[in-house]
Amino acid sequence: MSLSGRRVLVVGLAQTGVSVAHVLTARGAQVTVTDAKPAAALTDRIEALGGVATLELGGHRSESFTGADLVVMSPGVPELAEMRAARAAGVEVIAEIELAYRMLDPAATLVAITGTNGKSTTTALTGALCQAASDAGAAPTFCGGNLGNHPLIEAVDHPANVPGGFVVAEVAGFMLETCTSFRPKVAACLNITEDHLDRYGTMDVYAAMKTRVYQWQTSADFAIANAACDRTLAGARAARGQLHLFDSRGPLAPGQRGAFLSDDHSEIILRTDRERRFPAADLPIIGLHNLENAMAAYLAAHLSGVPDDAIRAGARRFRPQKHRMERVGDKGGILYYDDSKGTNVAAVAASMRGFPQPVVLIAGGVDKGGSYAPMFEALAGVARGMVLIGEARPIIRAAADEAGVDYPVLDAGSMLEAVQKATGLARPGDAVVLSPACSSYDMFLHFGERGMAFRDAVAAVGARRLDLDPPDDPDASPTPGAADPAAS
Ligand code: ADP
Repeated sequence: MSLSGRRVLVVGLAQTGVSVAHVLTARGAQVTVTDAKPAAALTDRIEALGGVATLELGGHRSESFTGADLVVMSPGVPELAEMRAARAAGVEVIAEIELAYRMLDPAATLVAITGTNGKSTTTALTGALCQAASDAGAAPTFCGGNLGNHPLIEAVDHPANVPGGFVVAEVAGFMLETCTSFRPKVAACLNITEDHLDRYGTMDVYAAMKTRVYQWQTSADFAIANAACDRTLAGARAARGQLHLFDSRGPLAPGQRGAFLSDDHSEIILRTDRERRFPAADLPIIGLHNLENAMAAYLAAHLSGVPDDAIRAGARRFRPQKHRMERVGDKGGILYYDDSKGTNVAAVAASMRGFPQPVVLIAGGVDKGGSYAPMFEALAGVARGMVLIGEARPIIRAAADEAGVDYPVLDAGSMLEAVQKATGLARPGDAVVLSPACSSYDMFLHFGERGMAFRDAVAAVGARRLDLDPPDDPDASPTPGAADPAAS
């Protein structure tokens, strides 16, 4: 797309806005960046812009929207009246990922991964598998999007933006809201369960947003969907990509293409042109939900052209992301797990179902408006006790009463008190797990800070520190105000 001389308004001056402004001005566009925050709150972002754009801060000017040739939205910016005015004036309003997509080499392989849970793990794993192919001589890999501090627009100037390059992106539902032609070669929607109902209102609206990842695919593309999730299936079936399923419940039906597990879960089996088997032991991750993520990632990599030996090499090198069921401490046989990224009920239910040890769960924070029943079902037979934190305490307690739980449910006023009380309930051989099923922002800046507070509390009760040394996850500890307000 020709950008030379075009007036582009970039909405949102966080990391994505800065990257978009640089990419556009390098191609001759006249860029204005607007943000509701005043300049004083954006000093390091303004510095990062290096004077390449005109600034309109501390609010938005409607004329700048209606007078632009193109408006580019940063992720997390809500629908604004000015956006509607721009559309009414015939101005195109698009998401940053849509702009990035339009600027990618059509012969690069774009892989887009969405879903309620497992996006980051699956995206990082797919990126690792593609990277192993790159290391073995294939074209380069870019891995980012909503993952870490690499918005998709950065792929445009990345060495991976060449024919055969791998561009792997985590995309959130709200990023798809303002897409109009975003067409990944490989699209995966992992699952759609209750989350963000505070933003979307109904499950139908939320599901419609997520499955837009398939919407613009053609019959030359691949749509990966979860056979056990009707909403992802319906979205994939309604579009034109070649359907590939993954199913953790049992083998695929004859004639279906996709991935499933061997009976003993020791192998991931891909069935496309023929069957390929990969040992699950290559992967350093635990739980059936992670095998689902792995099936989706293996399929995505395979359909992108990653050879089998690179898939194995990449899986062996992969390390789990921070704050996803990380074992962080041990006190006399009580193990402490940081799953601070378990920010909704389905995530906690997935990781608790069939947990190998009795669990004292620390949960709570900001309630998201869904039902806690699936969490209590998954905890039946697993829970030794529960400690509640944050604003959601009365709501979760009421749900516990309704579920008729037979284990103690205690309240705590701080993370330290929660860990102390959980330690008091646990016995040697048990696990204390922080997997809150809620957002963190009543007590913490983000889930990363909540996870770190948990680790500090675990140390404070005298546990020995266990460090798996996962790769840095910048997503988990953004500089306050620097990252986009991406929901997670
Ligand atoms: P996301 O980026 O979608 O938030 P993550 O990979 O960061 O996903 O995982 C977040 C949490 O969701 C994990 O800590 C785990 O509790 C849970 N989870 C991960 N994968 C799945 C899955 N496939 N199904 C359900 N829950 C999952």
